[in-house]
Parts: sequence; C-alpha cells; structure tokens
Amino acid sequence: MPLYGVIEAGGTKFVCAVASGPDAIENQVSIPTTTPQETLNTVINYFAEYLAPSRRKLDAIGIACFGPVDLDEKSAHYGYITMTPKPGWVNTEIAGFFGRAFGVPVGFDTDVNAAALGEYNWGAGIGLDSLIYLTVGTGIGGGAIVNGKPLHGLMHPEMGHILVRQDKNDALEGFCPYHQNCLEGLASGKAVDLRWGKHASELPDDHPAWQLEADYLAQGLVNYILTLSPKRIILGGGLMQKKVLYPLIRDKVLQYLNGYLAVPSLTAQIDRYIVPPGLGTRSGICGAIALAIQAKNNGE
Ligand code: ZN
Repeated sequence: MPLYGVIEAGGTKFVCAVASGPDAIENQVSIPTTTPQETLNTVINYFAEYLAPSRRKLDAIGIACFGPVDLDEKSAHYGYITMTPKPGWVNTEIAGFFGRAFGVPVGFDTDVNAAALGEYNWGAGIGLDSLIYLTVGTGIGGGAIVNGKPLHGLMHPEMGHILVRQDKNDALEGFCPYHQNCLEGLASGKAVDLRWGKHASELPDDHPAWQLEADYLAQGLVNYILTLSPKRIILGGGLMQKKVLYPLIRDKVLQYLNGYLAVPSLTAQIDRYIVPPGLGTRSGICGAIALAIQAKNNGE
C-alpha cells in the first residue's frame, strides 16, 4: 500500500495526516499556524516521528494550501504562498520545502481547488467532470474542476472577491481590505458577525440575517454558473452549518436566473444542483490525498 503525507495548510491550523487513501487515514494531527519556520518544521517533525518506529517512508505528499499561491510550474516561485495578508507568510516556499525534506513528489494546489478535487473523486461530485466547491467561513473561497481537472489559469480562481450588488438596506461597510464590498466583504462569517453584532451561531433560523446572506451568496453563485457552467455547486465551510441557508440560496439562484438557463438538471433538480459536501468536513484533507496520489502517479 502506498503511503501519503497529506497537509491541509490553513491560516489558523495545519491539519496533517498519514494515509493510504480517503478511507484509510491512519493518523491525523492539527498544528497551530504560527511563523512559517516554526509551523513547517513542526509538520516535518510530525511525519518523521510518526513514521520512525515502523521505518516506513512516504511515497508522496499532497498539500492543500491557503493562498494566494503560485501554481505555475514554470515559475521560480512555484509552490509558494505569494502575497498573503497573513503576517510573515509572504513569499513562503511550501511544496519544494517538503519535497526536499522527504525526497518525494509533491502535489500542490489551493485549499479550495483541493476540496473540489476531493469531492470530485469521492464526494458529491462523483461522475461529474465539472463542479465548483465554495467554502463560506471566516472568509469565502472557491475552487473549480473543469474537464476533470482543478482550474488554473493566470493564477487560480479567487471566487470570494467577486463584486456583488449590496442590498440598499444593508449599511455594513464590507471589510475586504482590497475591495471593501466584495462577496467576502459582505457575506463571510466575519461580515455576518460585524453586521449583526453576534456570532452567526447565535442567530436563529428565522433571523433576517439569513435572507440577506442567501441573497449575496446566490448572486455569487449565479455569476459562477454563467461563467464556468458547473454541473454542480458544493457549498461547505462553517457558515453552511446553518442548514436553512441551502433552500434560501436555491430559491434566490432561481430568482436571479429568472428562467434564463433552461437546463432541467438545474431548474427541476436544484436540490441536487446546490448541495452540501459529500465528504462533510473532510473535503480538503481528501483533496490533499488526491493530490498526493496524482503526484505519485506523475512521478512514476
Ligand atoms: Zn475582496
């Protein structure tokens, strides 16, 4: 059985696991994100100490990383975190650092592209060659699978930062430092907390917060539907634990499309078109496993 080291690198924690497949995660730890040097060395020590007693070696590593990151394999900074607002992490090498430490191939992508890949392989996207995974938590980010592959281009999608129309009764000054009232600035968990002065988990299902939230997210989804034409949209992240959001978002998406896309798999089956993650909260770590498997196969 091949053995993979997998890392879901986030702004607050690095979830690391040793696995041979999505249903065979034999050990998993969570390491707080501090300075790059301390965090990355703690991750290396975890793998080394876990594997030492059995004298096993990793076959490949998969990394689902917070970004923005450089995914251009021709670039001198491929596998780096680039211009993050996170202090100390600007221009931090990630993929190459682990590749050299363990002498194995490394698969590397954004956290959300990886989550999309995990869902594509083993979750709510099985059998579809095109889908979007959007996480709605403290921030908002999205990844896309197009023709069976994570979407890369100029860089990678930054779906949280698209522009939406602000509700005329919503006085919130969006907090995005770059665009103020982009989707993340108006609809992330942080925006909900700021607008209502309460944590999202304290707002009841019939609170007007959720109608407004569904409206903004639906605007985002309609834009993605009209540009990337995904065959399914998977909504994950902390805020989507609020299950009342799913029907509200589905209704608003149909309202905004206003009959324009006469595709039965969307209009007649919207419950199956906009869905929660099939892998629950494991989309990212499973995506990292998928990246590791690809890296191993490409290296052979
Ligand atoms: Zn923004």
